[in-house]
Amino acid sequence: MLKIYICAQCGTIRIVSNNHNSYCVLCNTSMKLTSISYEDYIRLDLEQRDAFIKNYLDKRP
Ligand SMILES: [Zn+2]
Repeated sequence: MLKIYICAQCGTIRIVSNNHNSYCVLCNTSMKLTSISYEDYIRLDLEQRDAFIKNYLDKRP
């Protein structure tokens, strides 16, 4: 089953097919597993993806 990982620093999304920790190629930090399924994610339009990503980004002061 495919899982959606996100980088909380830059918002990069990675779709992975296993449970290994994923690292962002840009930030070299560990990515968070999101709660959305791959099937749901691919149905989101660009605006919805944007809002979804912002939800997971680290809050900056
Ligand atoms: Zn990143």
